[in-house]
Amino acid sequence: MGKTERQGKRGSWGNFILIAVGILILAVAAVGVIVVPRYGRVFAEYRKYSAELRESKKELADAQKKNTELLAARDELQALDAEVQSLQAETFSYAAELEKAITNGGSNKRICYITIDDGPYYRGRKFLEIFNKYDVKATFFLTTANGDMLPDHGDISASSMYPEYLKYGHTIGNHTYSHNYGAGGIYSSAESFMKSIRKQDEFTEKATGGYEPVIVRFPGGTGTAGSELGGMIEGLRKEGHGWIDWTIDSSDSWGTGNTSPKIIMKQIKKAAKDQKIMVILFHEWSENSQKAMPQVIEYLTEQNYIFLPLFYDSMMVEK
Ligand SMILES: [Zn+2]
Repeated sequence: MGKTERQGKRGSWGNFILIAVGILILAVAAVGVIVVPRYGRVFAEYRKYSAELRESKKELADAQKKNTELLAARDELQALDAEVQSLQAETFSYAAELEKAITNGGSNKRICYITIDDGPYYRGRKFLEIFNKYDVKATFFLTTANGDMLPDHGDISASSMYPEYLKYGHTIGNHTYSHNYGAGGIYSSAESFMKSIRKQDEFTEKATGGYEPVIVRFPGGTGTAGSELGGMIEGLRKEGHGWIDWTIDSSDSWGTGNTSPKIIMKQIKKAAKDQKIMVILFHEWSENSQKAMPQVIEYLTEQNYIFLPLFYDSMMVEK
């Protein structure tokens, strides 16, 4: 083997080593530059995710615990609600007995049904305060004629008032959705009347979480319903509603100059002379009625009246 050949062999061996070292360096560089940071990011993200997962698991457990507590509270509320309803049914059955006893002379007690039309108004809260103070129950015949907001407090929704009446044991009645008894309004046909009744029932059920009004007050009274009254009554009967007018008009809708707390008291005193069971017509927007109410309650209490909310089986409710 010649010198040159050996040098050549040594040269190609050297080149091979150089190339191998080069590849090795490149591979290490690639691992260092590309793979390590990439996996480093992946590991960091994995750590982040698993921490988040642990957090979510904890949140889930908390939510489940809270859900269990809420379900228990709901069951408790439902039990309480059932208790209230059965107590109310019992009260109404006593009230029906009392009505009979009063009518046939078996009791010298008297009953006053305070009815308040056209709400909800913000003023309704004032009436509720008075009723709470005297422990008086009443009936509110509600309409949506004034729209979705309270007419005397435009930033408060009308529906938010509905549970307030129920909370204190008052009855909510149906005074039609539109209250429009002009030409082409609710009294133009039995169907348009029933449509307005149904719409108001739906509004009430939604606003109260399921309360179904069963007593209707015709806007203006049955006397203003006109020639289609028979069909309307048939419609109400078919759909399980009773209806009621009043035995005494408080006068609060008679217009300026024709009504005042004094005139209201005069009306009440007149009725108390011979009405053993009285149904008084008031309006929720009336400041005069609000002012007169404490005197009305005090006077009628002296006259041996008790104040009850209306119920379907009352003899005063037509059906
Ligand atoms: Zn009305």
